[in-house]
Amino acid sequence: MNNEVMKIPQATAKRLPLYYRFLKNLHSAGKQRVSSAELSEAVKVDSATIRRDFSYFGALGKKGYGYNVNYLLSFFRKTLDQDELTKVALIGVGNLGVAFLKYNFLKNNNTKIEVAFDVDEAKIKENISDVTIYHMDNLEKIIKENDIQVAILTVPANVAQTITDRLVESSIKGILNFTPARLSVPPSVRIHHIDLAVELQSLVYFLKHYPNVEEEE
Ligand code: ATP
Repeated sequence: MNNEVMKIPQATAKRLPLYYRFLKNLHSAGKQRVSSAELSEAVKVDSATIRRDFSYFGALGKKGYGYNVNYLLSFFRKTLDQDELTKVALIGVGNLGVAFLKYNFLKNNNTKIEVAFDVDEAKIKENISDVTIYHMDNLEKIIKENDIQVAILTVPANVAQTITDRLVESSIKGILNFTPARLSVPPSVRIHHIDLAVELQSLVYFLKHYPNVEEEE
């Protein structure tokens, strides 16, 4: 990622892809400018937060004018490295893994699952959405050959750490972990955990206990 992102607070950085997606839609619809109130309504982030976020990008909205859509778009494209395709490896071609292979990430951002891995011979012979599925024995070799820096983990939890260690050894820089396992990685590797069961449970809990309260920032 671009160095500029490093200076932006992490909470702001996490909202960048959301802003980017919406601004792209505005741009395609031929809109030249957008107000923080319009943005707020569309992305469901309060307008004070949007103004603060945008001030980090040097985008200062003008009263009565709003923000220039082209300026913001080119900033986001550069900051999110959208000019460069990020190649991703998927590890574990089970139900969830297959869904990711079939999902077109390129539709919304410049990332693409380039290769996939499994240990099940029956799956290795397959080819889903033009993505070749390799045996785990070839993990290090294929990752190196394809210059892959990001991996998605959709394997059973009990094998997740061993695979993570191999990915770290192969110089992977980021891991999106969909297993319930809490993984250890060195500080040079970024890991994001998405446990779908926990997210769903948390949603149900909030519905029950905070039915009308907006989540705090
Ligand atoms: P999912 O959890 O994605 O819905 P599932 O229930 O079909 O998948 P799991 O048992 O969770 O199956 O396994 C997910 C995938 O991970 C399977 O395709 C399985 O063959 C694969 N897998 C299991 N062990 C390993 C391993 N050590 N390395 C790579 N892949 C593995």
